[in-house]
Amino acid sequence: MDQTKQDEEYGYDLFPERNTGKHKKSQIRDSLFIFNHKCQVMLTFAIETSPYAKLLLGAMKNSGCKVMKDRHFSCEDCDGTVSGGFDAASSQIVLCQNNIHQQSHMNRVVTHELIHAFDHCRAHVDWFNNFKHLACSEIRAANLSGDCSFSNEVARFNFGLKEHHQECVRGRAVRSILAVRKISREEAQKIVDEVFDSCFNDHAPFGRIPHGNKDAKFAYREYANRDRYYANL
Ligand SMILES: [Zn+2]
Repeated sequence: MDQTKQDEEYGYDLFPERNTGKHKKSQIRDSLFIFNHKCQVMLTFAIETSPYAKLLLGAMKNSGCKVMKDRHFSCEDCDGTVSGGFDAASSQIVLCQNNIHQQSHMNRVVTHELIHAFDHCRAHVDWFNNFKHLACSEIRAANLSGDCSFSNEVARFNFGLKEHHQECVRGRAVRSILAVRKISREEAQKIVDEVFDSCFNDHAPFGRIPHGNKDAKFAYREYANRDRYYANL
């Protein structure tokens, strides 16, 4: 496979700044400096205050994968409407500074991508060749990051809450796969269905599906206190 085709199939074409040396300096880029600064400020706020992010960062530290803001996060311009991505080759989380404008959105993207980073840390994920691995991590990211929580609130009166959440997770996982791999929707749906139950029920490191900040805060407290119990034995 030639490099360009490979880049496309791995979704790198969505993150033009990943191809170092390819991007041209322009006036637009200079004016985007302000986007970069805003992105950095929102990122710092997310990792210092979001209970989702704090729990994931703590869990990764305990698994021997300490995340450092400057090394493992990168605010960049992205194509289309993508909000972020996890670059397994460099273990970096890409935050799309031109597409993230609100703190709540930043918190969700940081959490979603940290779940991929957590999976990358704890298991030998073959992101590129094993579509089931990718599908599993996308299911977990959609399920646990709150990506499906807002629509849950809206749909609460119309649907059974549980079923709607599952359908939302399924749909988002399929879309995420299609954004980075050139396969058909049917293929993506089939792969997601194959691994859905086991990956949907894997709530690590939250221990539950956090439906909102309050839930995530409880999960974080439980997680932070989990050693205290054993220490007192
Ligand atoms: Zn994802």
